[in-house]
Amino acid sequence: MYQLCEKGALEEKDNKIIFIAEKCDDCDICIPNCPSQAILKE
Ligand code: SF4
Repeated sequence: MYQLCEKGALEEKDNKIIFIAEKCDDCDICIPNCPSQAILKE
C-alpha cells in the first residue's frame, strides 16, 4: 500500500480507505493521486 496522503489522513483498513478529517490539511494532493478519482471535495 503506497502512501496516498503524506499527512496520514488516508489509512487502509480492511481493504477500505478511511479518511481521518482531523489529520487532513486540505493540501489536495490526494485528489490527483487517487487512481479511481474517488476523492471529491467541495
Ligand atoms: S487533502 Fe492532503 S492532507 Fe487531506 S487527505 Fe488529501 S492528501 Fe491528505
